[in-house]
Amino acid sequence: MNLTDIGTIKEIMSRHGFSFSKGLGQNFIINPNICPKIAEEGNAGEGFGILEIGTGIGVLTAELAKRADKVTAIEIDTRLMPVLNETLSEFDNIKIINQDIMKADLNQIIKEEFDGLRVAVCANLPYYITSPVIMKLLESRLPIESVTVMVQKEAAQRLCAEIGTRDAGAITVGVNYYGTAKQLFSVSRGNFMPSPNVDSAVIRIDVDCRYRLDEDGEKFFFRVVKSGFSQRRKTAVNAVSSQLGISKEKICTALKENGLSENARIESLNMEQLINFSESLRKIK
Ligand code: SAM
Repeated sequence: MNLTDIGTIKEIMSRHGFSFSKGLGQNFIINPNICPKIAEEGNAGEGFGILEIGTGIGVLTAELAKRADKVTAIEIDTRLMPVLNETLSEFDNIKIINQDIMKADLNQIIKEEFDGLRVAVCANLPYYITSPVIMKLLESRLPIESVTVMVQKEAAQRLCAEIGTRDAGAITVGVNYYGTAKQLFSVSRGNFMPSPNVDSAVIRIDVDCRYRLDEDGEKFFFRVVKSGFSQRRKTAVNAVSSQLGISKEKICTALKENGLSENARIESLNMEQLINFSESLRKIK
């Protein structure tokens, strides 16, 4: 079954009485070249179990299942279950879980579904929850090697920006803390049905956990980062002091301990500087 063919999609949809839900971010891929590329770049191969988020009618799911040992996909829309039963019927290595990704116990799912396999995540994400999904995947410390996802183009630029540059935000620091993000290729809006109002890009986050703080250090680090980026034009001293209620003197001391200017802004610090500053401040606060 050609799941990127518009006529086929319309026929299946009408037979199942299915209509697109804008609220669930349902824009399905109709260019046959895109899903094989996501699958290949996304580690779908021998020895891998792939966790997919949001199947639609199964166009990416099928390409993943052709390459990986197993695909387990989480899809919130119950109306798609009978559709997927039909469109993916030729595969015996796919399991669909009808659940909200934000409520799913991903550690448990991975344990149950992918015993003995290496694990990676691939998805054309629903854009209304791009950042929460990515942060849930990373913060849950899942045993995953990579997260390869289609996101809105602007989100891709932010997620893959260099820390310390204007394009970076708190989410960029969050992603960098757990892995290394890279933009793979762009996908224009005409490659989807229905066509969204934005262009997209596929990114891959290689989960390498280069930075390891203890639990308290991690929590404090993310509070510092959020405080700095929520008032990014302010100096670190002013932003962190007003948001976290820590005295300006202590913040100055922590900056100086790391050779940083008293006028530095959080947005101008690189990853090592951010982590070292946060750790110094945590000790003296
Ligand atoms: N993978 C398909 C494709 O590329 O054509 C569909 C991608 S579409 C952009 C996003 C999919 O995510 C939809 O099928 C939608 O129903 C599903 N979805 C939306 N919110 C979800 C949630 N909270 N949990 C799981 N799936 C969700």
